[in-house]
Amino acid sequence: MDTTLEDDYEALIQFLYIAPIGLVQTRIDGEILMVNPLCAQLLMPLARNGELSNLYKALESVAPDLRTAVQSFEGAHGMVCDGWQLRVPADPPGKLKHTILSLTLLKLDEGRLMAVLGDVTHSVQRERELRQSQAWINSIVTGLTDYALMTLDDQGRVRDWNKSVQRLTAHSSDACVGQSYAIFYPPDALGSVGAVDRLREVDRSGWSLDEGWRQRADGSRFWGSCLIAPLHVAGEGLADDERAYSLVVRDVSDRREATEALRRSVSCDHLTGLANRRTLFEACELELQRWRRTPRPLALLLIDADHFKRVNDDFGHAAGDAVLRHLAAGLSATFRAMDIVARLGGEEFVVLLPGCTEDAAAAVAQRLCLSVAEQAVSVNGASVRYTVSIGVAMMDSAVDDVDAFIERADLAMYRAKAAGRNRVERWQPGLRPAAVATSS
Ligand code: GH3
Ligand code: MG
Ligand code: MG
Repeated sequence: MDTTLEDDYEALIQFLYIAPIGLVQTRIDGEILMVNPLCAQLLMPLARNGELSNLYKALESVAPDLRTAVQSFEGAHGMVCDGWQLRVPADPPGKLKHTILSLTLLKLDEGRLMAVLGDVTHSVQRERELRQSQAWINSIVTGLTDYALMTLDDQGRVRDWNKSVQRLTAHSSDACVGQSYAIFYPPDALGSVGAVDRLREVDRSGWSLDEGWRQRADGSRFWGSCLIAPLHVAGEGLADDERAYSLVVRDVSDRREATEALRRSVSCDHLTGLANRRTLFEACELELQRWRRTPRPLALLLIDADHFKRVNDDFGHAAGDAVLRHLAAGLSATFRAMDIVARLGGEEFVVLLPGCTEDAAAAVAQRLCLSVAEQAVSVNGASVRYTVSIGVAMMDSAVDDVDAFIERADLAMYRAKAAGRNRVERWQPGLRPAAVATSS
């Protein structure tokens, strides 16, 4: 052997010695010719009486077919087995977990074999865990009925999806794949440009969630949420086609109904569905602030049912409730959408009329008075007639707050009561609380 070859051979031996994999060279009958330290370490738990002279013998308990595999291998050289997983029991049993060795055996020539052994316990374990999580995720994903899951490309086009998409959005996979996720929004709500902008937002902030109307393939709508998260690792210099996103669409109609019900219960009067006292005061306060910035006519009506106690006494409290609902419906029908119609309490109602002059407010109040007096409410077969008295007040600089504004309308309303009820009176400076007769 010349010196170069000798050096090469020496380097090879060195490599085999320190290689991070187990290497063993044997004769064709399994007698070990050379084994590196790592391989000896891996095989030692399998060696009987600490004797490690034959590979077949050492592996007999975990790879009993190895000798036969070599004998039946027909080629002059080549791979006899590739990545066999050998389960080595713990020693002593029960103390430690078993070890998993990977075995690859090469036939080098007619007389020699080379085996590569590695401890793959952790990677097998990890792979198993990964497969298990994958199986769990798959079963969750396919079992989910109110979550539609999709993968989007960098332009927001649908690439992949779970079955719930069809159930939730009525879009078939053919119609959906390749289209922008804007198809799940009502027309013009997002647009494909808006859809891409939102993805850039996701790149910046890591995620994006919005809630609102969503549209199905047949044009019908549902209240849904859309959560978008990046699937790529965020970073500069990423090519567009390396970006992908996960989109989760959920039908959250129930939540909207619950929120809506809560909003109604907080801001609406339970009997009539009109704005309640609290909502009225908040809206009035805002209008007063607006008036202070830019004065323009702002009228307020206070409407009180006449002799309402008698309605209750004559027809019962439930009939009284029905009459109050009738009056509330009449008020809603009479006034504009921009007016605030509220139940102040009991049989008293307030209407706030932004931009309405005193004459216009008095005129509409007069019409209301007449129409209430003309209509009979039919309750449980009985025909109930009633009237209302209305006070009209206008906002001016002498009115300090909402209470003072309502107080003016209240004084005017009592004037209407004193004057015989079923009528409209306007507030005037110097108006004092009037003595009101309870009869007539
Ligand atoms: P006036 O013409 O002077 O306003 O006489 P009135 O009987 O309407 O006035 P009063 O303030 O003496 O009585 C109001 C009545 O309204 C008493 C109460 O039983 C009735 N009332 C208040 N709230 C409700 C309600 O929610 N349902 C029913 N059915 N009645 C109510
Ligand atoms: Mg009253
Ligand atoms: Mg009354």
